[in-house]
Amino acid sequence: MTGTDGRARIGEMITPHGLVQTPAFMPVGTQGAVKAVLPRDLIEVGAEIILANTYHLYLRPGDERIARHGGLHRFIGWDRPILTDSGGYQAFSLGERRTIDERGITFQSHLDGSAHLLTPEKATDIQANLGSDIAMVLDECLGYPATRDEAAASMERTLRWEARCRQRFLALRDEGGQAASRPGCDHRASPRRSPEGVGGQAQFGIVQGGTHIDIRVASAQATVELGFEAYAVGGLSVGEPPDLMYETVGETTPFLPEDRPRYLMGTGTPVDLVEAVALGVDLFDCVMPTRNARNGQLFTSVGRLNIKNARYSDDRGPADPRCGCYTCRQFSRAYLRHLFVAGEISAAALNTLHNLTFYLDTMKRIREAIMFSSLDQLKEDYRRVFSRRSANS
Ligand SMILES: [Zn+2]
Repeated sequence: MTGTDGRARIGEMITPHGLVQTPAFMPVGTQGAVKAVLPRDLIEVGAEIILANTYHLYLRPGDERIARHGGLHRFIGWDRPILTDSGGYQAFSLGERRTIDERGITFQSHLDGSAHLLTPEKATDIQANLGSDIAMVLDECLGYPATRDEAAASMERTLRWEARCRQRFLALRDEGGQAASRPGCDHRASPRRSPEGVGGQAQFGIVQGGTHIDIRVASAQATVELGFEAYAVGGLSVGEPPDLMYETVGETTPFLPEDRPRYLMGTGTPVDLVEAVALGVDLFDCVMPTRNARNGQLFTSVGRLNIKNARYSDDRGPADPRCGCYTCRQFSRAYLRHLFVAGEISAAALNTLHNLTFYLDTMKRIREAIMFSSLDQLKEDYRRVFSRRSANS
């Protein structure tokens, strides 16, 4: 860590493919591609790390094929850090087409209906084949609301799966020999205590427990006991009210080590980012900026803007006058609306470029606010701007 403001921290996360300034946002590259933008554009907008989905890459083109092509970084032409999820969330989301038992998650592929069993060991192996910088453990994801008993049982199962993931991870690392020159994932200003991962890969544990605080705390303590390079808070942003999510995060982060990055999975809105950073979170991912862009919704300094709205038909101004992205420098709202209405694929590209710029600029503003101890002010600003639904649309 290099600075704090209340519980918020700025730091640097060191990975085999370079350094990530935290708090950081990871654009989601589901199938090894962030939809509608090229890797060179991701670099231009300031993305330092992206997320890729294990479920999709395992099914197509296959993790073994990617390994033969030199690993995910080389295959997708991205030489900065990559975090992979475990595949569990996607498999879990298949609903009727999956069953869960102690072994793992049995599911039918959404592509061809073929049957697969995703075990903790398998999820670890796949991510080792992909060669991501950060691998996630396989956890059980619970919907909202969940009863106390459901949350407790699910959390216990996640713990058993996490232990199996860790065991496999360490075995793979020993098999692969020492990768002594590759640093693990850590905050720079702190001493490194954990062993180095597979080829420098780090493995993050995941805290579960629904919105039941005591179960969350027990999960955090037991997960930390297992000894991962860093820790994530999972199972939130699944339909619970935002304030309940903030409360759950705020009650969980004090039980995670100070000197390790904390990752809040699958969250969130611009307000969520600022709120969660203030509670001690360092890493985020969410499909919102990219998915909403493809649906014509832009995040701007004055709130959300629906570019398809007829009121922009003759608007010569940029999407966001305070944004310096290529989309805002070069094109009018009228043209962006035209592209969207006409179904041009460049609408998705330009809107995505802008939304990612907004998200990554938000992270930069957050880091600056922590440095100047003004995060509370930033939080108020974001709350005000985004409190109205689709302001300015
Ligand atoms: Zn812009």
